[in-house]
Amino acid sequence: MTTQNDSTDTHASVQPHYAPQLDVLYRPEVSFEGNDENHASRTPTKARRFLEHVADQKLSDYLNILREFGPLANSEFLRAHTREYVEAFFRGEEPHASSNGLEWSPEFAESVRYTNSSLVHAVENALAHPARISLSPTGGFHHATPESGRGFCSMSGQAIAALRVYEQRGAVGAWFDLDCHLGNSIEDTRSHAPLLDQALPRDLHINPQDSGSRYIENLRAGIARVGRAVLRGEVHYLAFAHGADSHEWDDLGGQCTTEEWLRASRLVYSAIEYWSRTLGRPIPVVLAFFGGYRDDDAASVLELHAADLAIALRTLAGVSIDYAPRVKPKARRR
Ligand SMILES: [Zn+2]
Repeated sequence: MTTQNDSTDTHASVQPHYAPQLDVLYRPEVSFEGNDENHASRTPTKARRFLEHVADQKLSDYLNILREFGPLANSEFLRAHTREYVEAFFRGEEPHASSNGLEWSPEFAESVRYTNSSLVHAVENALAHPARISLSPTGGFHHATPESGRGFCSMSGQAIAALRVYEQRGAVGAWFDLDCHLGNSIEDTRSHAPLLDQALPRDLHINPQDSGSRYIENLRAGIARVGRAVLRGEVHYLAFAHGADSHEWDDLGGQCTTEEWLRASRLVYSAIEYWSRTLGRPIPVVLAFFGGYRDDDAASVLELHAADLAIALRTLAGVSIDYAPRVKPKARRR
């Protein structure tokens, strides 16, 4: 049984395996700027709002924006979806066009090509440059099914990326999906694309449930399971989305206090640091945002994501950065 410390301050003397910078797969088309108030999910603009939010903060010194990626073609979406759904969605035909629960427009559909491309290219960038932590500042993937969208999600970016890198280079991934909601898209895609069982093995898709200390224990068990496969050399990249809707004051969430939410980040990054140190090389790391909904204070969501990235930089790259997120308590509803 291996052990690992979830304190981020115990590795100061260890030579970090990762570059002190995050490669951010971002270009303006990732952020859909249309009728945002009509989008129950504010995820379409989150990437832009996040970069603006941290622009005058120390964290921005550690973000390296990579813009060299284009929109994903229909053929890439067919890896995880039926032709009927892909073609109808991008043509704006109902009922497929708004099966994600969002209002369809040509511009929104185009942004879906870019969010999925950002995630695909983040995985490929991490595999090509293992010492560079790659961030896709996106979401809107993990509830989609092969035949339709669902729950603010249009296309299964995680499954598409996993299938692509497995087919092209035999890369096997593990996913830590710490969004509040159970990410069904990967499991729902398995019968449509059986190769996913090899590309992203079932027991390496971690989606902790419950709340408070039970949530943390649930996460620890998932980390231990992934760790055994990583240390056997069976995992080629690790992906982690710390959805901010798992925070107790989120409009849709409610699993973790601020301290528990940050502890979950420290647990995941400390485990990755330990595995990399044990293997003597950096394991490719891909990060994404996923959910986070605060109608009363959207900045609280961005603060949690910023704090998560600061923990990644501190734990994996030895960057001296401490980010205390300002999360506004939820106003009581009358
Ligand atoms: Zn969610």
